[in-house]
Amino acid sequence: MSNSNSNALKIERGADGIVVATMDLPGHSMNVLNDDLALPLAGLADLLESDASVTGLILTSAKKDFLAGADVDRLRRLSGAQEAFDESMRFKAFMRRLEKNGKPVVAVIQGMCLGGGLEIAMGCHWRIVIDDGKAKLGLPEVKLGLLPGGGGTQRLPRLVGMQQAVQWMLEGTEVRAAQALSSGLVNELASSRDEAMAKARAWIAANKKPVQPWDAPKFRYPGGDSRSPAVVQMLAIAPSIAAAKSWGNYPAINHIMSSVFEGGLTDIDRGLEIESRYFAACAESQASKNLIGTLWYQLGAIKKGASRPSGVARSEVKKLGILGAGMMGAGIAYVSAKAGMEVVLLDTSQEAADKGKAYSKDILDKAVKKGKSTADKRDALLAQITPTTDYALLQGCDLVIEAVFEDRGIKADVTKKAEAQLAASAVFASNTSTLPITGLAEASARPENFIGLHFFSPVDKMPLVEIIVGAKTSPETLARGFDYVMQIGKTPIVVNDSRGFYTSRVFATYVMEGIAMLAEGVHPRSIEVAGLQAGMPMPPLALQDEVTLSLGVHVADQTRKDLAAVGIPYKEHPGERVLRQVCELGRVGKKAGKGFYNYSGSEKSLWPGLADLYPVKAMNEQPEQRELIDRMMFAQANETARCLQEGVLRSVADANIGSIFGWGFAPFQGGALQFINSYGVPEFVARSRELAVRHGERFEPAALLVTMAEKGERFEEGQPAE
Ligand code: NAD
Repeated sequence: MSNSNSNALKIERGADGIVVATMDLPGHSMNVLNDDLALPLAGLADLLESDASVTGLILTSAKKDFLAGADVDRLRRLSGAQEAFDESMRFKAFMRRLEKNGKPVVAVIQGMCLGGGLEIAMGCHWRIVIDDGKAKLGLPEVKLGLLPGGGGTQRLPRLVGMQQAVQWMLEGTEVRAAQALSSGLVNELASSRDEAMAKARAWIAANKKPVQPWDAPKFRYPGGDSRSPAVVQMLAIAPSIAAAKSWGNYPAINHIMSSVFEGGLTDIDRGLEIESRYFAACAESQASKNLIGTLWYQLGAIKKGASRPSGVARSEVKKLGILGAGMMGAGIAYVSAKAGMEVVLLDTSQEAADKGKAYSKDILDKAVKKGKSTADKRDALLAQITPTTDYALLQGCDLVIEAVFEDRGIKADVTKKAEAQLAASAVFASNTSTLPITGLAEASARPENFIGLHFFSPVDKMPLVEIIVGAKTSPETLARGFDYVMQIGKTPIVVNDSRGFYTSRVFATYVMEGIAMLAEGVHPRSIEVAGLQAGMPMPPLALQDEVTLSLGVHVADQTRKDLAAVGIPYKEHPGERVLRQVCELGRVGKKAGKGFYNYSGSEKSLWPGLADLYPVKAMNEQPEQRELIDRMMFAQANETARCLQEGVLRSVADANIGSIFGWGFAPFQGGALQFINSYGVPEFVARSRELAVRHGERFEPAALLVTMAEKGERFEEGQPAE
């Protein structure tokens, strides 16, 4: 056996002339397509073409994953459409040489095979997946506002059919081994690496001169090409179905469909070129810049601990106590047990505590039914949760999270009772959604160990936890809270204590702006559509119905009272009057079956009575949608800037990620502060002033923004590390 090695690609040649090229990028836990790997991969084409003794090639990986995708750093550095086009074409030229040189090339795939990884695999003549339950194949580029520019939009439809390919690429679906086989994406499964390698060698021996299906003269798309009636029908409606979800805010969606459709009218080489043009358009789009900056770089920085105090050793929660087994406590118990913790779930009655535990059982029963888990695993997880009324069981907890009623007196009482059982080093956290942490910590004998961990509902689905640092919270407590959030697989943002913290405070500006429009005679349907057009996952009136109108009134009352106590004047939002009026009619929201909407089973429709309360202005007096959209988005972005200015927010990354993960701020905008960057800071200030003149002083731009505009500054954006 003769060997020759680059650092990232190990080449071994056997006596049979088969070359095994093993990707193993040094210094990375996963293979990504950066220069270190792409260059030696390109060299494989030279090797196959120039060395007559080579009989075939097996491409595989020494890591647990095949190849996780393109190098986002490299994409980020592309300057301009031409460079994006050239880069995409270069990558594909090498793959065309591999597929057309006449010698068999086999991919042996394990673990993640995503993005550029799958595109390379599809450029091989035969694909074998090691089926150990971990394989995931897919083209997730759309999630970063991109299009698979390495041949994905051409080869995938030619392998699995246009309909399936479009669906997977628009949703960024990750396909498991069995489906990859049945759909035609891969050719064989193997139960072990040895078996896969043996199958690869056997296939090479039996297929000395393979031709890719699309290079065969009689090639036909599975299910038909762009001219076939079934595909024409699909393509006629697919853009409108996609637009109904995306409201045209994600250009990658249309570019992917266009690339597939236009590619389906021509041969593969022209198709690959068409794809590169659409790739360049995506790479140049503001949406992809926003998505990559925030959801790749800023999220990555947060997960690496940018907001965690350094110099504190990593900690792990082994035993967790939860006070209050209601909706939130039950959810926290589930996600924590799932992360391997022993959980004590305490409530005032055994029945209430048991009910909290039953929540986990319900979720797990469903998973077992669907074949996603087993009865043994369910029982083992349930055995980790002890429902009780006995505080003594909290002994030995590293962390206790309080999720009782939103009442200062009750919270103070349970804090004291729990602390009496805890070691001096244990951390005590409150899941309050509105009560300032510094005040709650007054009930604690160890306020430096007291912190806010604000979860979102439903806990098992929502990805964010807002960590609130009280006036006395120690850096060590913050680090331990942060580590716990990471341990349960959620994303932490860190904010300083203040009314509504960050997420509840800014979220409220969105719904209240929509509600205020009702009183102005804006058509309720226009209000709701504006929210969706802006890119918010739910329109404002429907959202207020979900969280209940009475909660909105309760928070307003509490804020009034608290501000009066410290002599700060209260500024009533114009939406508040509407909220109270509708609430007083008993229309408190979805739970009650009536709010801004009427609910009947799974159906809902806007309550016609709204028009009597708030007569709708004539059509020609209705404001433009742009005005409504701007009001909703500017209200949120401006309030976020104020949070940064006041020191409630500690970082731009926390602001952006918190807005997207916390309340669904339009992801394509890259978060509430990135929205201001993309709009342009001076332009944002000018537009805010216009809105303030027309709609009230709440739109006056935050002082921070005015200063930034004067100095020509922007908020920092996620960037590759230099
Ligand atoms: P919930 O009413 O569903 O549950 C509260 C639970 O606390 C009940 O089971 C109750 O029996 C128990 N409880 C009350 N007094 C107690 C005591 N003295 N000792 C032990 N248990 C006691 O409420 P929830 O929605 O789960 O909210 C709990 C906390 O989480 C509140 O502070 C709330 O503001 C906060 N929060 C709620 C949400 C949400 O969307 N519901 C989101 C974030 C934070």
